[in-house]
Amino acid sequence: MSKKKKNKPTLNKSNIKNKEILNCLIFLLVLFSYMLPSYSEDMPKSKDDTKKTSNELNVIVTPANAKQGDVVCVKIEKDSKCSGAPKVFFDKTKYSVFELSDKYYRSLLPITANYKVGKYTIEIFYKGKVKRIDLQVNETKYPLQELTLTKEVAGLQASKIEKDSVNRALSNFSQKKLWTGKFLNPSDASLSTVYGVKRRVNGTINPDYFHKGLDFAAKEGSDIKSPEDGVIVLVGQNSKGFVVNGNCVFIDHGQSVISGYLHLSKILVKEGEFVKKGQLIGKVGSTGIASGPHLHWGIYISGKTVDPINWTSMIIE
Ligand SMILES: [Zn+2]
Repeated sequence: MSKKKKNKPTLNKSNIKNKEILNCLIFLLVLFSYMLPSYSEDMPKSKDDTKKTSNELNVIVTPANAKQGDVVCVKIEKDSKCSGAPKVFFDKTKYSVFELSDKYYRSLLPITANYKVGKYTIEIFYKGKVKRIDLQVNETKYPLQELTLTKEVAGLQASKIEKDSVNRALSNFSQKKLWTGKFLNPSDASLSTVYGVKRRVNGTINPDYFHKGLDFAAKEGSDIKSPEDGVIVLVGQNSKGFVVNGNCVFIDHGQSVISGYLHLSKILVKEGEFVKKGQLIGKVGSTGIASGPHLHWGIYISGKTVDPINWTSMIIE
């Protein structure tokens, strides 16, 4: 009896254990069969599908985190059923949106050298929906330059005609994208001052000032070439009131991108003229506020300057 009593419970125990394992396996199998299809449905089918979900706007932001001087590219996938274009807001400003291709709209956001470091939100309104994407703006360390200027030169300010003409030119861009690849350097000379440099002029730092382009240490009379295809939107002359920029040329590359060339000795293009990538547009000089012959080259996105280095080192869509 005592043997039977001892055997029975051990048999029962192993039976229960086997049943438990079996039940557990069935449960796991059922659970897995439920999980499997939904998991594979959510898996990205290709790289392009990474950020796509059926009920959301498909937006690609490049770079995902920006630094001062960058331009941020916001691509929004088109919906053929929707007739209106998307609206893009960033830091309380509405930015222009253009047709990039049959598949995408695109907006460019300028992150100037003096942009406050921090977390921002890009808001995209399209198809009756809104998508908000966080964008971190990081600091770029810019050098400080010591400059000594005569009181007369240091006190010079852009004339009204100069300011008005440049502002008009910067807001006068075509809807068509005219550039196709990396921008060429407009001068063969080496750089003397990079973008974003802060200046101490006669011992005083102006906190609002930063260098709004690249300076090429080019010789008087050397060639200036158009870095990409575009239309001349402004030809300014020192003799006609362009006291700061001197003789200058501004080129519209389309879709909010404009480039500017300052302090020229000679201008070889006319307003309204279409220029090809690499075409000669003028000669280096020292007109306007310039301590010597050099080319100042600026790139403006919706009227705000960004670092031209980004445009010569990579293709911005
Ligand atoms: Zn400059």
